[in-house]
Amino acid sequence: MTIADRDKKYLWHPLTQHKTHPDMLGITRAEGAVFIDESGNEYVDGIASWYTCVYGHCNPHIISRVQEQMQQLDHVIFSGLTHEPAVRLSEMLMEILPDNQAKIFFSDNGSTSVEVAVKMALQYHFNRGQKRNTLVAFENGFHGDTFGAMSVSGLSVYNGPFEDLFLEVERLPLPTGENNEEVLKRFEQILKNKQVSSFIFEPLVQGAAGMIMYDKDGLEALMSMAKEHGVITIADEVMTGFGKTGTNFASDQLEVKPDMICLSKALTAGLLPMAATSCTREIYEAFYDDEIGRGFFHGHTYTANPLACTAAMAGIELLLSAEMQAHIKRIEALHREFDQKIRNNPRVKQTRQLGVIYALDLDVEMERYGDLRKRLYEYFLSKGAFLRPLGNTIYILAPYVTTNDQMNILYDAVESLLEEVAVVG
Ligand SMILES: *Cc1c(COP(=O)(O)O)cnc(C)c1O
Repeated sequence: MTIADRDKKYLWHPLTQHKTHPDMLGITRAEGAVFIDESGNEYVDGIASWYTCVYGHCNPHIISRVQEQMQQLDHVIFSGLTHEPAVRLSEMLMEILPDNQAKIFFSDNGSTSVEVAVKMALQYHFNRGQKRNTLVAFENGFHGDTFGAMSVSGLSVYNGPFEDLFLEVERLPLPTGENNEEVLKRFEQILKNKQVSSFIFEPLVQGAAGMIMYDKDGLEALMSMAKEHGVITIADEVMTGFGKTGTNFASDQLEVKPDMICLSKALTAGLLPMAATSCTREIYEAFYDDEIGRGFFHGHTYTANPLACTAAMAGIELLLSAEMQAHIKRIEALHREFDQKIRNNPRVKQTRQLGVIYALDLDVEMERYGDLRKRLYEYFLSKGAFLRPLGNTIYILAPYVTTNDQMNILYDAVESLLEEVAVVG
């Protein structure tokens, strides 16, 4: 029996309707930008396995650092104890995060990094004697699957059955440049009528919504308004962090700096699960008190796991290397070239790019997880390209180390799809 056959007996996969999608692809090996299935077929990982392994799968630098670390210290509790990997990682993150960030709280996935930020913002106001229970977020944002993170997310396909149980969230449309005044007015109204604790957003690009890019000035205006009203601004950089937008963080491109930043995914370069929530000194100080209850009583068992910390450090070393920065520039340029080629294709409604993130909308109507999407996905696989369309959006966010030839496998798959889209559709 194949791995894929045996999978069917006991396993329940994430984000999967098993009745209509019974078949998984059994993967045996991965290296660089490629993974290999149990029949020996190779696929270019066009989405860096959900934006994680940006320096390539099984990166030798990361593996050797973690191998060395695991001989010395595996895991210890991070309450009362500390260790070199956590301390050094905090120093390295502080060197590259925006200057206003002062403290780092570790957890183990993107959703918990958001959950931590949301709870910290609520308690920040609580500790200062204010009851501020409303959160503000963008329409169609995605922030994760735990209850707090799900509450601020605005994608109904994930949220349906739980909506009645959410935290109180007010939603803003994305600023497009044209609607900035209206969005700002809407925010002002919310601030007048509600006790708002925090404003959370995916800076510059909404990932799960379909790599939707929006107006930087509009975001900065909203952030400034939030700050004037004592509202904590939370940049969810779980997707955008570590080079994807062309800078280390999307927040680097903003004049106004967020009060909190959520990190995960590429933080550990695809090797191990880990997340971090950073915040300003002012936020930390609202918790610093003689009274124990004013502390932040939130913690996950695997907090600051030394192996995950080491993977993250090795990842940051790679990110900052001249070689990786050159790869990022190279992929950006390849995307621009590809865009020139296809942007006027009649089957392409719109294209967009930020850093190494490239997306195009097909000029066809389709459901986010509908049948056409499944056929697109299988079509790409048959071309050796691992791409997961989001609705009618096809996006490429490949590892930075993807070679030109491997990028061409992705581009060729998209181009040949555009030729055949009438057939596929
Ligand atoms: C993926 C993602 C999350 C959730 O991360 P998990 O590790 O899947 O829980 C949160 N925010 C954004 C922007 C993401 O892209």
